[in-house]
Amino acid sequence: MKGYVGTIVRINLSDVRYEIEDTENYPIYDFLGGRGLGAKLLLDMTNKTTEPLSEENPLMFLTGPYTGTPGISSAFYNVTTKAPLTRTPSGSHSGGFWGPHLKRAGFDGIIVEGRADKPVYIYIEDGKVSIEDATNLWGKGVFETTDYLERKYPSAKIAAIGPAGENLVWYASIMNDKYRAVGRTGAGAVMGSKLLKAIVVKGKHRVEVADPQGLKDVFAEALKNTRVKAAKVSELGTPAMIPVTNSTGTLPTRNFQQGSYEKADNLDPKKLRYEFTKKKVACYGCPIRCSNFTEAEYEGIRVKGEGPEYETTMAFGSNIDNDDYNLLIVANALCNDYGMDTITAGDTIAFFMELYERGILTKEEVDNLDFRFGNKEIILDLLHKIAKREGVGELLSLGVREASKRIGRGSERYAIHVKGLEPPGYDPRGSVGMGLNYATSNRGACHLRAAMYVPELLYKTMDRFQIRGKHEYIRDFQNVLAVVDSMIMCKFGSRYGYLDDADTIAKALTVVTGYEYSGEEILKIGDRIWNMERLFLLREGYTHRDDTLPERFFEEPVDVGNGDKRAINKEEFHQAIKDWYRARGWDESGRPTRWKLEELGLDEYIGKF
Ligand code: SF4
Repeated sequence: MKGYVGTIVRINLSDVRYEIEDTENYPIYDFLGGRGLGAKLLLDMTNKTTEPLSEENPLMFLTGPYTGTPGISSAFYNVTTKAPLTRTPSGSHSGGFWGPHLKRAGFDGIIVEGRADKPVYIYIEDGKVSIEDATNLWGKGVFETTDYLERKYPSAKIAAIGPAGENLVWYASIMNDKYRAVGRTGAGAVMGSKLLKAIVVKGKHRVEVADPQGLKDVFAEALKNTRVKAAKVSELGTPAMIPVTNSTGTLPTRNFQQGSYEKADNLDPKKLRYEFTKKKVACYGCPIRCSNFTEAEYEGIRVKGEGPEYETTMAFGSNIDNDDYNLLIVANALCNDYGMDTITAGDTIAFFMELYERGILTKEEVDNLDFRFGNKEIILDLLHKIAKREGVGELLSLGVREASKRIGRGSERYAIHVKGLEPPGYDPRGSVGMGLNYATSNRGACHLRAAMYVPELLYKTMDRFQIRGKHEYIRDFQNVLAVVDSMIMCKFGSRYGYLDDADTIAKALTVVTGYEYSGEEILKIGDRIWNMERLFLLREGYTHRDDTLPERFFEEPVDVGNGDKRAINKEEFHQAIKDWYRARGWDESGRPTRWKLEELGLDEYIGKF
């Protein structure tokens, strides 16, 4: 099929050898690439006892047929591994330039297995692969590592880990092009466990599409829409969401104790844009240019780079009670340089702050720091401690679920996570669809599996408080985005370019690959991917009891705008989850039925998990 380069390289770091295989030998017709292919391979290559940080856990860098094409927002690649933070497929994606350049270097994907006996990096140029000594880079930050490798290999693109990945922080990220994160569930720690510091890609291969004129035609209309729909995100970046969530009671504040932040005016996205942003930046071939390249200084530390995004503005802003953009930007840059996820880092600090204020954590247990909300003095120090796993940083480095398990003493009540993943910037009490999305998501509280904040908060085409009746919409949304993550397209590009319905995606994939897709088939591929990931979760021991939200969202009402205080009705919420099981063709306990697996061609998994 066109769109693909045609080869995938499997590298075994233990044996220091690699093998090049035809992409067509992989199930790309059923799973496309990226997240879908990763889910299938991960289920088959691991078992329940595979530890995420063991050498048995594969680490896969996968593009899709759409990656690196001349279509809109084709910058993205996927990393799949068994995630340390959640023990689910990591299913993380990143933009920038690295993904398209992996294809230019001659491969659709890299599957890394085993563990090196000393720090190494992988260098790939025009189909040639070598494993190089990285001893001199171990311990260095992402920025210094990237600068060094860029100097050594001009025009190459770099994906690297920082000290957080080396020290196995459970939410360490892989950073490409310095500022773009494969974030959330800890793929960087898996890379660190393999002593793999970086992957450098370089090459001249051009991605061929089946019908270049057809691709232009599909995107001619989409480009018009892109300019209209993306206007705000182009101007302000994702922090444009701050006023939206703050006014609807969905801006997580002080560890989700409130849904709006009384100092949110100081986090006005216009302030970020016009006082701190030096230029707008785009990923490979993207007209939206949503990224802000900022500069700031805090406590004598001067930084410049991309971000913060909206989610970071929540996690290191309202959720820890910080309204200072200088601190926020420096914290974001430190997380990027250490290579760790900003949402989980900020949310875990917020969790500890609440435990401290409630007297569950004593001052001695938090290195004698004043851990109250709003104490800005401790934040940068904490980031150093987390990345190095020093003092209180050791517990903080495990994320909310595991830290709470180790602390005990009733801390579980305040541990805000779903399946081990801390929620991003949407309090579900003011956007119940986001709550359903978190509870049903197959990697925990992720905003990107079915971005229900779009119809409920942005476009206001759906009642944000209604619980029942959304199950089919959510199922289809999840299925479409599973395909978007597998072809792979940036979700903003998909949303703002109006390539967010199955029929248009089918047209785009048809002109890219030359294989005739229908909208119905796109939904079926998405369904297959979703079921594959569900099987993985069931095998790991997750059950229907995990398809829920933290009690706080059911028991503690928050102001969701205009003084209206609401919590979520638990009984109705769980009924809605059952509706969703039914819509998915699963049984009452959320297990894919025999007929569903047969329908999707997944017969080999019947009765297995
Ligand atoms: S919309 Fe933003 S994140 Fe997506 S490809 Fe464009 S610049 Fe990158």
